[in-house]
Amino acid sequence: MSRYLPSSQMSTETALLHAGYRHDPVTKAVAVPIYQSTAYELDGDLARIADIYNVKEDGFTYTRIINPTTRILEQRYAAVDGAADALAVASGQAATFLALVNLCSGRPGDNVVVSKFLYGNSWNLLFNTFKRLGIEARSADPREPSSFEQLADNRTIAFFGEAFSNPCLIPLPIAALAEIGKRLGIALVVDNTTTPLVCRPASLGAAITTYSATKYICGHGTTLGGLVVDNKNFDFDDPVRYPLFNEPDEAHGGILWRDAVHKLGDLGASAYLLKTRMTWLRDTGAAISPFASFQLIQGLETLHLRMQRQCENAAVVASFLQQHPKVRSVSYPGLTTGRDREIVDELVDARVGHGAMIMFELDDEAAGRTFIQNIRLMYHVSNVGDARTLVTHPVSTTHTTVPKAQREAAGIFDGSIRLCVGIETVNDVIDDIKRGLDAI
Ligand code: PLP
Repeated sequence: MSRYLPSSQMSTETALLHAGYRHDPVTKAVAVPIYQSTAYELDGDLARIADIYNVKEDGFTYTRIINPTTRILEQRYAAVDGAADALAVASGQAATFLALVNLCSGRPGDNVVVSKFLYGNSWNLLFNTFKRLGIEARSADPREPSSFEQLADNRTIAFFGEAFSNPCLIPLPIAALAEIGKRLGIALVVDNTTTPLVCRPASLGAAITTYSATKYICGHGTTLGGLVVDNKNFDFDDPVRYPLFNEPDEAHGGILWRDAVHKLGDLGASAYLLKTRMTWLRDTGAAISPFASFQLIQGLETLHLRMQRQCENAAVVASFLQQHPKVRSVSYPGLTTGRDREIVDELVDARVGHGAMIMFELDDEAAGRTFIQNIRLMYHVSNVGDARTLVTHPVSTTHTTVPKAQREAAGIFDGSIRLCVGIETVNDVIDDIKRGLDAI
């Protein structure tokens, strides 16, 4: 009798620990083994081996494309998000790149309509690198979902935005954009890096969810990784927009991806991810290492506990900052008022919380610098989602080279401070914030 409980019967917290793996079939090891192997012996019937290479049968070939440790991470996270399947890659940046480029037609005219509030390197990827590859990025305002529709045409391959933008925490109206996308036949891709478990883009209609797993999923600031998740909410069946999903793909021997999945078991749940894996991941080499996958699996086991504690701590810190006379304003989803509140309420599972990222404003650049130079507990780093509390003064670090007008349009001012609250005793974090503020 199989001792394996189907992940469909598991709650989120249980899936984080159990989905996709019971024990090693030979040794019965309970921890997921690290299959630190580049290749897999091609023994047995050569016709069967050829079928694996021709994507007619499941199987392991080469770790740049597929790896057993990584596959468990992928299956586990797909179960957590209630998705069809997931693909793990080298970093969050690779996840964004592959998720979007997989939709391109390879013909002039492809464009992506993107939220104007984006993580800086997503902005660079879209507005510089994609442009060089012939894919145009068009900047829309998530506060006006209709602006996405106005900028779209019959060659728009995706709408893209962050569930809560990093660092300004502008909420993305996922349900409204998914609805527009479905009506026009355009896939909505949502970067949910800052709010795993807090926000469920799949249940709001997003086609694809991406993550920098480097952040909360890893949780300990040790490992880079990314995830692309197919929520199975969308058919890529518009032949003008998505010809490579609807015509033979010469990048893999003239395969028709929507037919290929029917021949497969393990990899048959998502034509979108099968295509990403077998062409873009194969060709860019943006593979995650088996050891990194193991580290992220470790992170997943405690993700729900960390998220809940980080959200609780962040809510306390945000209220403290809101009442402090040296703080001009505080952005935190849990404190949002006005018309954004409805969107926040739609996005978050309040049982988990409102996320752990906070942005607050000090008077000017000098105040921001003084604050950073006087903290003792929090780490001044340009990272997000560590178990430790992290703090950044964007103008002194990530945004030093961004022209003032451009960064202010993106909501980053001279005195902006980004906090990512950790799991410490919250009073210790508040004492450190007081130390920084008292020095101003
Ligand atoms: N998306 C968001 C929202 C991020 O904050 C980051 C990194 O900070 C990335 C993507 C890129 O992730 P990575 O650093 O893992 O490449």
